[in-house]
Amino acid sequence: MRCSRIRRCLSEYIDGALDVRTAAMIAEHLAVCAQCCSLCDTLEKTLFLARSWYCEECEPPGWIVRRAYCAVRVHYKAARPGTARRRRKTR
Ligand SMILES: [Zn+2]
Repeated sequence: MRCSRIRRCLSEYIDGALDVRTAAMIAEHLAVCAQCCSLCDTLEKTLFLARSWYCEECEPPGWIVRRAYCAVRVHYKAARPGTARRRRKTR
């Protein structure tokens, strides 16, 4: 599985919403990919904090979870070397 596909599934992975086979493939990837593992860890903590603001009976609104996930993804994309668009022409 590629990193981009892993990252799209991370919130479902953390929530245990994936089928066993996909979850196992993601777990295997996380064991060998430091960046995805770090992203998963950060997302897990962020979701935990977001959910801790609410009582046990009510889940946080979906938009908060999506925003948290997007913020973590943007942070990691920006921090990853070589992913910034190159605007300078190489001549
Ligand atoms: Zn990865």
